[in-house]
Amino acid sequence: MHEWSIGKAIVDAVTNFAKGKNARRVLRVDILVSEIAQLDLDVLREAYKILTQGTLAEGSKLNIEIEKAEFTCNNCGYKWTLKDIGDIFSDLAKKYGIVDEEGTIDLPTHYMPMAIHALIACPQCKSMNFSLNITRSVEIKAIEIER
Ligand SMILES: [Zn+2]
Repeated sequence: MHEWSIGKAIVDAVTNFAKGKNARRVLRVDILVSEIAQLDLDVLREAYKILTQGTLAEGSKLNIEIEKAEFTCNNCGYKWTLKDIGDIFSDLAKKYGIVDEEGTIDLPTHYMPMAIHALIACPQCKSMNFSLNITRSVEIKAIEIER
């Protein structure tokens, strides 16, 4: 369960920060989640709620902001987003036989961002040399504490 391990990492970071500041409790945590992380946010919220029980962060509010992935081709300079390449994923899904009996396509995005460079090419020049604006799948942006 990807969401639970990420939830654990967030809770550890938040509680360590709060302890370091001699906080009485954590009130609010803002995180930025990349759309490429393909996380189930409901599961992540539930994991956060359960994992914070008995810690300084118990009862704190978790705000989740989604960061849109933007790709830039290093060869021709073309920019595109994940939405633009939805068709590419559909083709890949068919190619690799990951379409279930109902015809639902299971996008191979669960393996991102590790596999992203192997799966995506520039829609304009087909170069696989591109940059992504996102470096981490989840980032803590702000932590509000009460002293
Ligand atoms: Zn290109």
